[in-house]
Amino acid sequence: MKRIFSMTLLLVFAFFATSIAQEKRIPAKGFAVFSGDGQFKPYEFTRHAVGDNDIEIKILYAGICHSDLHHVRQDWFKEEFPMVPGHEIAGKVIKVGKNVTKFNVGDLAGVGCMINSCGECDACKENREQYCKGVVMTYHGHDQFQNNEKTQGGYSNNIVLTEKFAIKIPANAKIEKVAPLLCAGITTYSPIRAVGVKKGDKVGVAGFGGLGHMAVQYMVALGAEVTVFDITEDKRADAKRLGAVRYVNVNNPEDLKGLDNTMSFIISTIPASYDPYMYMKMLNLDGQLCIVGLPATAKAPSIRIDKFVWQGSRKVFGSQIGGIKETQEMLDYSVANNIYPEVEVIKPDGAAITAAYQKVLDGEVKFRYVIDMSTMK
Ligand code: NDP
Repeated sequence: MKRIFSMTLLLVFAFFATSIAQEKRIPAKGFAVFSGDGQFKPYEFTRHAVGDNDIEIKILYAGICHSDLHHVRQDWFKEEFPMVPGHEIAGKVIKVGKNVTKFNVGDLAGVGCMINSCGECDACKENREQYCKGVVMTYHGHDQFQNNEKTQGGYSNNIVLTEKFAIKIPANAKIEKVAPLLCAGITTYSPIRAVGVKKGDKVGVAGFGGLGHMAVQYMVALGAEVTVFDITEDKRADAKRLGAVRYVNVNNPEDLKGLDNTMSFIISTIPASYDPYMYMKMLNLDGQLCIVGLPATAKAPSIRIDKFVWQGSRKVFGSQIGGIKETQEMLDYSVANNIYPEVEVIKPDGAAITAAYQKVLDGEVKFRYVIDMSTMK
């Protein structure tokens, strides 16, 4: 009898504990796709409660990265739906946990592609959390630190995360343009800094879209002579306006003449199939080609290993976003030097987001769509 009584008490306690934990969950709403059809519709869900080391951010702006399209279209792997994409987030802190020291309520804060990591592996210790095997992605992942709940991204009204993975946005930043820096900005800034691009270097940017136009601006600011490669005539004037010395339409053979062996660094942001040898050949001895663009797996070009020998000591390497410390450095540098993406702000509306995706696919965006989440009803 006594045993049955204790068991009942335990069950009642567990029931109330679960209910309280559920109550503490934070209601969220945004826009999700419910399959790979790319149709965005309103979606309500919840986020975990604000823990002692967490902050809650009211999202003001969310960028649309080509990676979001790859995820929705399942270009790389099978995804779980419903999915709320968005890993370029700028907003305002509305709640802080009791141990939080980096933020106060009212501060501006940004979130990129990651919201947590193991904190113990070599990658984490070297401030390169993006390479941690336990990294928690902002969306399309599961949060091992929050009962493995599915993560949902920034096309929504709020987000909750540990303060460590939130980036401080300077109060004087042009806030409607900040969100894309959290992915497009850091993904290009990081390898440009790693190879040490400097004044007078002859460099290239392949793919002149969201990432590409950031790469151009960073390298122009460093004093490099930038050549831009894309597949259209429509962006020739934009490349010159942003400071590039040359624009190459790769579909025009005349444009490509005389470029072999001329560049010390090329960054490829191309999201589709292309010929990587064309760019390898343009490198001078010891030149470096950095791949950040991620075509759909089925369309990804490959490089034969013997080409590395025939191409001399030219190097090809990949790079993924950047660590949290470097992301903060990039944001501070960008704001201080007035380097921002060129954005087209769209309404927080399912049809508008769906249409924007199509325009990115059709090459009609200059250069980044940003969703104004602050006006979401
Ligand atoms: P965008 O669509 O904004 O830009 C891509 C650009 O590449 C467009 O201007 C496009 O032209 C151009 N392009 C397409 N095909 C070619 C080609 N064969 N040669 C030259 N240019 C071409 O995409 P994003 O900048 O947002 O993203 C680019 C890629 O980077 C994506 O694959 C994305 O997933 C990846 N990415 C990788 C990250 C990483 O950590 N490594 C982080 C973030 C993104 P047009 O517009 O005319 O089609």
